[in-house]
Amino acid sequence: VSERNWPYFRAVLDSIPGYTPGRAVAGPDGRSVKLSSNENPHGPLPSVRDAIAEAATEVNRYPDTSASELTAELARRYGVAEERVALGAGSVGILQQLLTATAEPGTEIVYAWRSFEAYPLLVELAGATSVRVPLRGETHDLDALAEAITDRTRMVFVCNPNNPTGTVVGHAELTAFLDRVPDHVLVVLDEAYREYVRDPHVPDGVDLLTERPNVAVLRTFSKAYGLAGTRVGFLIGHPHVAAAVRKTMIPFAVNRIAQAAAVASLSAEDELMERVAATVKERERVRDALLGDGWVVPPSEANFVWLRLGEDTTDFAASCEAAGVAVRPFAGEGVRVSVGTPEENDAFLTAAHEYPRRNQ
Ligand code: PMP
Repeated sequence: VSERNWPYFRAVLDSIPGYTPGRAVAGPDGRSVKLSSNENPHGPLPSVRDAIAEAATEVNRYPDTSASELTAELARRYGVAEERVALGAGSVGILQQLLTATAEPGTEIVYAWRSFEAYPLLVELAGATSVRVPLRGETHDLDALAEAITDRTRMVFVCNPNNPTGTVVGHAELTAFLDRVPDHVLVVLDEAYREYVRDPHVPDGVDLLTERPNVAVLRTFSKAYGLAGTRVGFLIGHPHVAAAVRKTMIPFAVNRIAQAAAVASLSAEDELMERVAATVKERERVRDALLGDGWVVPPSEANFVWLRLGEDTTDFAASCEAAGVAVRPFAGEGVRVSVGTPEENDAFLTAAHEYPRRNQ
C-alpha cells in the first residue's frame, strides 16, 4: 500500500465494522468454557479424523475445485440434481459469493435485525446497502420484511432458526411470505442450525425449492457436523443460482481437508445426529433451568439460547467470564449462550444462578 493510497484505504476501513469472533476466557481455576460461537462441543469422530489425516498427506496438491465427490454426496443426501448444489468456504463464503454475484452500489439486501452479525459486514464489503427490519419481539416480522422490498432489492436473508434469538418461522407464514416476494428478489433461507429444529411446523427449506426458483437454502458443516474449523458450507437452489455461486467462488476455496472431512461426516451422519439430539436435550434442560431461575428465555430451535438482558447485558457477560464461561453479549440487547456439554452447561447455569439479579 503506497502512501498515496493509504488515505483511501483508511476511509474504507473506517466504515467497515469488522467481525468480532466469540471470545474464549480462562476462569479463576483455569477452567475455560467457550459458549460464545455456537460451536459443536464434540471433537471429530474417529472416521472423520482418519479422513482428515489421509487428506493431509496430499496437501501439496490443490483440491478438486469443483468438489465433485462432496457435491455428488450432497445431491444424493438431499435428493436434488447436482446442478442445484454449490459450495463455499463456510456459509459465510457462500453469502459473499452470492453478494459478488448480485450486489452493486445502490442495491439493497433486506434482512431482519437482530440477526447473524456477518450480514451487515458482508453487505458492506460488497458495496451494497443493508435494509434492516426490526424483529417483532424475538421473531422475524415477515410482513415488514415483505414491505421492505423495493425495485432495488436483490436478496432477502431469512435466518431460520434466527441467530441469536433461536426463534423460527413456520411453514404457513414462510410460504405466505414467499408468495409476496417478487420474482426479481432471491430469498436466501439461512438454515445453519436446521438440524437442531424439533418444531414440526418449521419447513425444511429444501422442500420449498422445486416450485420456487427464487429461493435458495444455505447450510453448513460448521454446526451439527462439527466442522467449524475446516470451513465448508453449501447452497441448494435453482441451477442458475448455484452456477452463479460456483462462478463467484475464489479458486480452490473449499480445501482438500474440508472436502474429505465433509464427505466422511455425511457417511457418519447417524452418529452425528445422535450428538445433535443430545444437544437438543441439553438445550431444553438449560432453558428449563433458566426459566426456573426466573430468566426470560424464548423457546430455541438452535444450539443456543437467548437472554434479552438490555442494560444488564455487558455486566452479565462479564460475570460469566469471571466464572470462566465465555458467552456472546450484544451490548444493550442480550446474551447468546451456546449449548455445550452437560458440564459446560452446568458451569454456565451456575454462573447465571449466582448473578446478582437486576430488573428481573
Ligand atoms: N449463518 C448463521 C445464521 C450463522 O450463525 C453462522 C455461524 N455463526 C453462519 C451462517 C456461518 O457459518 P459458517 O460460515 O461457519 O458456515
